[in-house]
Amino acid sequence: MSAHTTFKVGGPADLFLTPESEEALIAAVHLLGAEGIPFFVLGNGSNVLVRDGGIRGAVLCVGQALGGIRTEGSEITAGAGELLVSLSHAAAKAGLTGLEFASGIPGSVGGALYMNAGAYDGEMRDVVISARVYDPAAQAVRQVQPEEMALGYRSSRFQAGDLLILSVTVRLTPGSEEQIREKMRQLMEKRNAKQPVNMASAGSFFKRPPGQYAGALIEQAGMKGYRVGGAMVSDKHAGFVVNTGGATAADVLAVMQAVQERVRETSGHWLMPEPAIIGEDHFADGNEN
Ligand SMILES: Cc1cc2nc3c(=O)[nH]c(=O)nc-3n(C[C@H](O)[C@H](O)[C@H](O)COP(=O)(O)OP(=O)(O)OC[C@H]3O[C@@H](n4cnc5c(N)ncnc54)[C@H](O)[C@@H]3O)c2cc1C
Repeated sequence: MSAHTTFKVGGPADLFLTPESEEALIAAVHLLGAEGIPFFVLGNGSNVLVRDGGIRGAVLCVGQALGGIRTEGSEITAGAGELLVSLSHAAAKAGLTGLEFASGIPGSVGGALYMNAGAYDGEMRDVVISARVYDPAAQAVRQVQPEEMALGYRSSRFQAGDLLILSVTVRLTPGSEEQIREKMRQLMEKRNAKQPVNMASAGSFFKRPPGQYAGALIEQAGMKGYRVGGAMVSDKHAGFVVNTGGATAADVLAVMQAVQERVRETSGHWLMPEPAIIGEDHFADGNEN
């Protein structure tokens, strides 16, 4: 899974499926269900940490084959596998404002809704008006309205894990393409100046405790630059844990734990990780007793 995640760590999955159409995705879900094989839905892999033993079961990758962008007036519908960055550029091209915040977030549209991804002055909650999902329990495709999505700070009802997001529709506001692109440029400049964007990571590693910034608490705890093996608290932005090359998931988890403990000692806050942490610590091929 190190090849399929931006952290570039993690052992192998038993099965890695990249369906090329919605029908194939749904067929794969049926087949896996019938065979009793558990599966994990992966978008662009920019908010997951896979442990070193990898994943027993299947990974169902909602990739760019399940993308596509359609604009109708001020509404844009994108396939879940489309890159959020491409969606924000399509909005700019159509002269629609509201998605500038998304221009530097390296996730898929499905992953962005699942996480209610956001940055600076915006988040998915501000723009999404509906999503098409596949519900494996009901074996049906249906629409989900914002009221049902329960979008909060990096959280949504999709995190219950019972629905696959197929496409997302956003409603934006007409604006000047030039101004939209200028705002995107400014936000990217801010991001590049403050974040270790050229290093392997999953973005901000810890969720913000209410009223606080995780990065500031970590810096105050003296953990900026703290390292275990190839994993390190970024010396550019303490909210990021980066893979400096050759890190294992165990290294990342050791950094996480040390930061959590030290920050609790110095501030009383227990920092929760933002990425999904999945898979097994050790690889078992079934031949062990
Ligand atoms: C350099 C960097 C910068 C980042 N900056 C930001 C930022 O500014 N703001 C921010 O919010 N995040 C940021 N992130 C984190 C990440 O990009 C977002 O959380 C993004 O929305 C994750 O999307 P993904 O497609 O990569 O999801 P993945 O990492 O593939 O998956 C994340 C979760 O979503 C679920 N999921 C994915 N697709 C679907 C689907 N179609 N249906 C159902 N469930 C699905 C997965 O099962 C998993 O639990 C950053 C990450 C990096 C590496």
